[in-house]
Amino acid sequence: MAPNDNLPQPERVLVVAAHPDDAEFGAGGTVARWIRGGAAVRYLVVTRGDKGTDDPAMVPAELAQRREGEQRAAAAELGVSGVDFLDEPDGQVVESLHLRERITWAIRRFQPEIVMTHDPTVVFVNNEWVNHADHRAVGMVTVDAVFPTARDPLNFPEHLAAGLQPWKVAELFLWSTNEANQFVDIADSLDAKVAALRHHASQFPDFSETERWLRARSEELGERVGLRAAEGFRRVTLAR
Ligand SMILES: [Zn+2]
Repeated sequence: MAPNDNLPQPERVLVVAAHPDDAEFGAGGTVARWIRGGAAVRYLVVTRGDKGTDDPAMVPAELAQRREGEQRAAAAELGVSGVDFLDEPDGQVVESLHLRERITWAIRRFQPEIVMTHDPTVVFVNNEWVNHADHRAVGMVTVDAVFPTARDPLNFPEHLAAGLQPWKVAELFLWSTNEANQFVDIADSLDAKVAALRHHASQFPDFSETERWLRARSEELGERVGLRAAEGFRRVTLAR
């Protein structure tokens, strides 16, 4: 049965994530569905996750290299057409014009109708955990890059001089939100999401535990809205 969740089918989607694995956790099922429907999806990953370990002896540069490889493999699993890394320092991402310029460049270059990223307004997710400061910073800068920066030609005019055009993004899909207004049926793409996440081996001492948690969580969310499994987003439709 075709899903009945009012999900649009875009041609191009840009996913902006703070760390390797954020995109799969936040949106892997929806990304898989869109790609099956014919969309081109690209990832922009702001850091290479070089602090993502509890091992104090780990060498950050080695971890970064490993996690970049894991992210590329996870993206390939879903059929993502390309992954770009900005290589900002993990754990130290701040809202800056420098970062806004880099994300604006990516939006103007790829021209996505939909941009997915972290909900920047969330400090406590579900009152269960603190939303990482990098997630909040990346979410906020991405929202600012979408509107009005990428749209208005006098922002970073050097982009136009380099051959890019201003670009209007139609919609934002924000994950890890406390205000989900779009539930996406991922019953047929939950396996793909799990398979993609499995590539982030450096992050999971016991992936079977993570898989159980993820499936239970997706089914719980689905149950609330009459679906077998779901991802939830704050969907913001921008005035055109
Ligand atoms: Zn993260």
